[in-house]
Amino acid sequence: MKPFDYASPSTIQEATALLEQHGDDARVLAGGTDIIVQLREGLRDAEIVIDVKKIPELTALDLCNEGGLTLGASTPCCDVYETPDVAAAYPALADSAHIVGGWQIQSRASVGGNLCNSSPAADTIPSLIAHNAICLIEGPTGTREVAAQDFCTAPGRNVLESGELLVTLRLPAVSDSESSAYERFIRRNEMDIAVAGAASWIKRGDDGNIADARIALSAVAATPQFAQEASEYLVGKAPTEENFSQAGELAKNVASPIDDMRGTVEYRVNLVGVLVKRTLATALARIQGDG
Ligand SMILES: Cc1cc2nc3c(=O)[nH]c(=O)nc-3n(C[C@H](O)[C@H](O)[C@H](O)COP(=O)(O)OP(=O)(O)OC[C@H]3O[C@@H](n4cnc5c(N)ncnc54)[C@H](O)[C@@H]3O)c2cc1C
Repeated sequence: MKPFDYASPSTIQEATALLEQHGDDARVLAGGTDIIVQLREGLRDAEIVIDVKKIPELTALDLCNEGGLTLGASTPCCDVYETPDVAAAYPALADSAHIVGGWQIQSRASVGGNLCNSSPAADTIPSLIAHNAICLIEGPTGTREVAAQDFCTAPGRNVLESGELLVTLRLPAVSDSESSAYERFIRRNEMDIAVAGAASWIKRGDDGNIADARIALSAVAATPQFAQEASEYLVGKAPTEENFSQAGELAKNVASPIDDMRGTVEYRVNLVGVLVKRTLATALARIQGDG
């Protein structure tokens, strides 16, 4: 690994000033489970690595009944599933945080790092999209907000401009009439990346039908995908197996996967239908209290 300078600012202002000063020569470090591997393998270069974990806003985890969840970008995955109120309110996020690597990785790896690494197969991104998360970004020109579904632009690329830092993820408040689930398919029991993954969130109306739904996919396109047509199809429908199957069929329309050693295009597209149907059924079961 090439030598680099190390900084550990304690405020957002210090971090963004360093990012602006060093531009593309600077890399942000959260848990380091992606960036250290990439620096060691020469996949990325850095003159300076900026460790952001000492900035209080980046590790804040606040759940407020009306305000929803404020999740600091560098909050480790284990804090998400080990905080009972958070795991209960955002089960898809807890499901996905629980399968990022093993527990040693989960105690370092952050949800924001997963998002900023912007892998098409990242596990927490579909859950953020399904829960309609908003990304708060600080940079030289101030603060801006980007929906999680618009954050990734290509494999390993995202909307962050030079000098910008992802500070917080905001997830809307949830009620007892909504729930979610994430599931991925991997070819072996040991750690691996998803062949395909799906997160589903549904909200039931007073009439028992689905009042709102959001479905998102991983590992089946160049970026994690929001399955808008499938999500909209469910609105106003009864939460039946037949309707969940049809949503799975519609979700296949946003899948444009590649063939690789983990699976063929046909296999991955087929998995989309299976995983969407399953995660919708799990989300429904969780609303009913038996998930
Ligand atoms: C053994 C192993 C198993 C893994 N298994 C999985 C898995 O099952 N599923 C999965 O999805 N991933 C997996 N990963 C990948 C990795 O653990 C995750 O992507 C993790 O969430 C990254 O978080 P981090 O905090 O370690 O990020 P870092 O490595 O610290 O950062 C990742 C990238 O994001 C940038 N960054 C981080 N925080 C910010 C910020 N606040 N603002 C701007 N840029 C930022 C960094 O500069 C870097 O480019 C695995 C990795 C390993 C080593």
